[in-house]
Amino acid sequence: MTFDTIIINSHVILPNGIIDKNIVIDEGKIVGLTNDTPQCDKKIDAKGLVALPGMIDPHVHYGVYSPIEQAAATESGVAAVGGVTTMMRMLRMGGSYKKDLDLHLDNSAKSHYIDYTIHASVLHQSQIDEMEFCAKKGITSFKLYMNLGDEVGHVYMDMVPGKNELVEDRVEINSKIVERVIEKASSLGCPVLIHAEDYQMCSCGMREAKAKNKNGLGAWSESRPAESEVKSIEVASRIARKAGCTLYFVHIGSQAAMDAILQERKNGTKIFVETCPHYLTLSYESQKGYLAKVMPPIRSSSDTERIWKEVKSGTIDTIGTDHVANQLRLKIGGDTVWEALAGFPGMGTALPILLSEGVNKGRLTLPQLSSLTSLNAAKIFGLYPKKGIIQKNTDADIVLVDMKAEKKVSAEILNGFSDYTVYEGWKLTGWPVKTLVRGTVVAEDSKVVVKQGFGKFIARPAS
Ligand SMILES: [Zn+2]
Repeated sequence: MTFDTIIINSHVILPNGIIDKNIVIDEGKIVGLTNDTPQCDKKIDAKGLVALPGMIDPHVHYGVYSPIEQAAATESGVAAVGGVTTMMRMLRMGGSYKKDLDLHLDNSAKSHYIDYTIHASVLHQSQIDEMEFCAKKGITSFKLYMNLGDEVGHVYMDMVPGKNELVEDRVEINSKIVERVIEKASSLGCPVLIHAEDYQMCSCGMREAKAKNKNGLGAWSESRPAESEVKSIEVASRIARKAGCTLYFVHIGSQAAMDAILQERKNGTKIFVETCPHYLTLSYESQKGYLAKVMPPIRSSSDTERIWKEVKSGTIDTIGTDHVANQLRLKIGGDTVWEALAGFPGMGTALPILLSEGVNKGRLTLPQLSSLTSLNAAKIFGLYPKKGIIQKNTDADIVLVDMKAEKKVSAEILNGFSDYTVYEGWKLTGWPVKTLVRGTVVAEDSKVVVKQGFGKFIARPAS
């Protein structure tokens, strides 16, 4: 019997350790980790490389500033090169899922290079009744933006597929909606992703800061204080505890938010926590200009140290990028931080940052990294045991990494829709060199080598 592919000579990263075995792949799946070398059509010599489970990025925005059929190609290309094998899209729509979801799915189907799934944002009351419909379509997680309402309720939705036009909307996520979404999700067995910032506190803080002519990323952080995260965490947790719903707090990057989450876990709320590479590496003290403007804001260097600590201890479950595929002409709106667009790209740099600043600096082990970037997200979002780990019978989603490779970050080498990166000029050590999705090499030596449309939509079961 001949198998499709064998990867020899790599160090294979498992959740609990590192082993030196060959990875045998057939029909897209891992069929075994072996000491011998069975007959295979293709042999990949990974001498000197590390084999990690492909990154599952649980938090990606694309299709907002370019239509999905284009964004799926550019951003999944960036992802493939960066070692991401599954990207989870935060879909934002103002209208009806029943009416418009298929249009998004159809227009995505021929464009991705890597596998993808969707989280459905619930932005209007009427969409609550469509959550069950979404779940039946394999979209078994829902996002609540507690930061949207009042004077800060403006948001760009995903573009209508096929139309290159920005879609603006106003959203008000009041406590009634929060409660109903959490209750509904609980009844469907689905987790709710929470953007935890209290819009009233943020609205007030921003008004005050602008009136005092404050500027810069420090002012941005001050105007959206960590206490606003705490308030939302407490409100959502109280509701979820009562409803028996699992919460997943996205992009946590402040000490105060971390403290609140630890307390709510003690109170009995089932909570998963995500942070992002930028909350581990950037602070308002270290950043000039407004490129690193994001919600919630990057905080102080003592916050980044705390987030490293929580990542290392396993209190934080996942690392998502909160990748926003935008461009400088949209990003910089004027002379002050207030006019700049929040959010920036991060998928192409996530693994290199974590390998360089995390593993190579002794803050994380490779097994820890593999849980943070793959296994935990797979388990939380219903992708396990299909994905998330290098073991028999799982999809052969693998990234081969050269821990010693040194490269300077630039927007050019990332080659996505975005023409900038907040990590421009950073010298990083540890880069992906080859990415496989379901056993097929999708990227090597910083180039996409698979045909568009290879990536599949992964429908997920509810728990
Ligand atoms: Zn986001």
